[in-house]
Formats: sequence, structure tokens, C-alpha cells
Amino acid sequence: MAMKKCNLAFLPADGAGHIASTLEFAKRLLLHPSAAGRLSVTFLLMPVCASSFFSLNPPSSATDIAVHLLPDLAVPSRLETDGGEDYISLAFQLYAPHVKSALAATAPAALIIDFFATTVIDAARDLQIPTYVFFSTNATLLALMLHLPALHDEIPEEFELLQGEIKVPGLAAGIPPTSMPTPLMNKKNRCYTWLVYHGKRFKDVRGIIPNTLRAFEPQVLSALESDRSVPPVHPVGPVLCLDRAGGGGERHECLQWLDAQPAASVVFLCFGSLSRMTEAQTAETAVGIERSGRRFLWSLRLAESEGDGRPPAGFREATNGRGMVVEEWVPQAAVLAHAAVGGFVTHGGWNSCLESLWFGVPMVTWPMGAEQHLNAMMMAAEMGVAAEMEIDRHRGNWATAKEVEMKLNWLMGESEDVRKVRERVREMKVASRAAVEIGGPSYDGLGSLVTEFKRLPEQ
Ligand code: UDP
Repeated sequence: MAMKKCNLAFLPADGAGHIASTLEFAKRLLLHPSAAGRLSVTFLLMPVCASSFFSLNPPSSATDIAVHLLPDLAVPSRLETDGGEDYISLAFQLYAPHVKSALAATAPAALIIDFFATTVIDAARDLQIPTYVFFSTNATLLALMLHLPALHDEIPEEFELLQGEIKVPGLAAGIPPTSMPTPLMNKKNRCYTWLVYHGKRFKDVRGIIPNTLRAFEPQVLSALESDRSVPPVHPVGPVLCLDRAGGGGERHECLQWLDAQPAASVVFLCFGSLSRMTEAQTAETAVGIERSGRRFLWSLRLAESEGDGRPPAGFREATNGRGMVVEEWVPQAAVLAHAAVGGFVTHGGWNSCLESLWFGVPMVTWPMGAEQHLNAMMMAAEMGVAAEMEIDRHRGNWATAKEVEMKLNWLMGESEDVRKVRERVREMKVASRAAVEIGGPSYDGLGSLVTEFKRLPEQ
């Protein structure tokens, strides 16, 4: 008789940074030898997630992942809410009764949620289904969020009015107020309220699974593990979706252009799936790039209200042959993997940081929103794998042309400082790969999770 499979339900958020790694994590669980074909996965999808999910996981995919489409609800648009974190948290809250019906219908052994979906924990608990959080970013943000309810009680004023660092257990140096995540910079905004709420609710789950690895954040992970009020933390990273680089079909023209450039000579600038540059910042950045004299590949996306999406007049001529501007989605992982790329100017989204370290590319971080300012601080101060662009947060994270020029020259230059960063990046590349190899810490962590799931009582 065929043994019954242990079914896991996943509830992902939309957004490239969340859904892709959640899906990849699910695949890795299914393919882990400890699963031995005894796990199955069902994705509970809000309609807003469906198109990105199916583009990432076409039905012909080797791993068998079922989909339960949630009904189409009237969810406020992003613009009607206080921001991205408010929008997605509110959407999950509105969907909670439907998630409950879906759980009752599919009877999974466990529910694995996006970290903005903690409002569904109670629905799962009513059905005696344990909830886990797939935390698609790092343990530093996790430690901060877990401590937020206490910070909320202790500190009534805005964080940026504080002198000195914000103390968080596990983060020895604390967090400078200017490095706090964007949704925490205005306490009257509902994004802040939601993050405090989620931080509180993380204590109500069976386990938290951050997309990180011990070698990146040893202290903070130890602190989380030794805190008995925190559920077990299972670092399984780096969970990367490298096949999105687009197998099949023609190689992107930017890769062909890179083929013709000398090794480690090109600086790659790319700011994630959501960030858009204003026309003024584009013009300023163009001056910095031009003056640096460096070879570059610039993935440029302008805000919709801005211009026609092109770099300033004369820029292409001035940098003719030395650079390429792409005004659409670029295959970032394939670019970072290319031997011609020697540095990465990134907004510091966590997936971008993980990819850069996987391919051993040193970074300059230029955060734009979400938790990116925190990631930037952590990459530079804690991990020593990046330098931070000096920006004006009160002016839309503005960087001057001079600063862009200086940081490009630093990144692609030969100073003692950048050589040290390159060395650290090489170490982190080795650690990333070792973590997910057979017998590596994240590989084994995944195996323990699989074993834990298989032992859960059947519904
Ligand atoms: N990405 C890409 N091409 C682009 C922009 C982004 O392939 O032009 C990918 C990138 O490789 C990463 C993801 O989209 O895997 C962005 O995730 P991240 O967490 O870095 O930032 P977010 O988009 O969530 O701000």
C-alpha cells in the first residue's frame, strides 16, 4: 500500500523577492533525500500571486506542486494603503477566512506562511494545524522584528530622533537610527504598526525559517537560538532561484555585451524588481557613472510618472562602447555569474545580496526602501562585504554624482580597503556554497525540518 504523503500548505506573498524564494524553498524540501517522496506541497494562492507563481513554476515543472486558488476578493490597491507592508498585511488579513476554508479542505500537516501573513495563524490554530514562517530575508531583520514590540513600549518617539544605536538582542553594535528599515521610520504609518504586530505574532509559530546561513550571521542566530521565548529558528539559506536567469531561448543581449568585456572590469547597477529612479536621480547618477570612466551595465527603470524611461541626452554618446543601459528586466543572476562583472551597485534587497555573495561579487549598497537600509548596514559593518553609498534619506535616498563617481571608483579600484572586501566576499562565496552542499549546515537544517514535518500528526 502506498504510504500517505505529508502535505504542506504554503501561503506566499506576491513580489519577486518573496514568492520566488518561497517556491524554491518548497522545491528544495520536496527534493531533499530525507523527504523520500513522502512530502507533497500545496500553494494557497491569492489571485494577485498567480501570474508570478505560474511564470516561475510552469505546469511542466519536474516537482509536483498543487495549487489551491483563493477567491478573488476586493483588496485595496497599494496606492490606497500606507505602503507595501500595509498593503500585503491587509490583503492576508482579508484572506484569513478563505485561508481557513482552504486549510479545512486540503487538511495539510503544517502551514508555511510568508512573514507578512501572521494574521492567519489563528485560523490554522483553530484547525490544529501548526504554522511556520518562511522568513525570506535575514536573521538581523528577524531579531529586530522580534524585539519591536518591546522597542514600541520603550521608545515613544521616532527612531531617527534618538541619539546612539538602537539595542537589539544579538546585534552587539546595535542599529544606527539611519539604518532602520523604511517601514519603521514613521510610527504613525500603518506599515510600522503591522511590523510590530508581526513581530509579536512570530512568537506564536512552531518554527521560523530565515533565508540565511550561519556563516553570514553567527552571533544573531546564536542569540535567537538561546532565547527561549523565540520559536526554533532554522536557517536554510541561501535559497536562490538561479534558473530564473532564463535557460532556453536566446541569451540576453547584455550577456552578449559582457562576453566582449575584460574580466572583472564591469560594474553592474541594478535596483531590484520594485525600485524606480526619478528622472533627476537618473541624470545625477549618469554624471557619476560617466565621470568614473568605468565600464558599466546599468539596469535603469524610471518611475512611471517620469520621462520616457531613458538616460539623459548625450549620456550614451559620452560613454559609447564603455557601457550598456538596459531599460527592462535583466537576468541578474546570470549577470552576476559573468566573469566580466567585478562589482555590483545594488539596492540591497536580500535576494540580490545573497546572489552577489553566491557569485563572489563585492557590493556598494544604495538602499531604496523596505529593510534595505538595515541590509546595507549589515553587509558593510557586520559582514565586511560591501560599502554603503552615502545617501540622503530625506531626499528620496538621494546620492550625488560625486558620491556615485567615488563609490564606483572605490568598488572597481585597488585600495587596501576594497581588497579586504573582495577577500571577505570570496570567503562568503565559499561559505554560501558549502552551506547548501550535502552535509552543509543549511542542507542538514532542511533535512531536520523535513523529518519534523513528516512526524507531524496527520490531519
Ligand atoms: N531581478 C532580476 N532582474 C531585474 C531585477 C531583479 O533578475 O532586472 C531579480 C533579482 O535577481 C532578485 C530579485 O529579482 O532575485 C529581487 O529581489 P530582491 O530581494 O533583491 O529585491 P526586491 O525586488 O524584493 O526589492
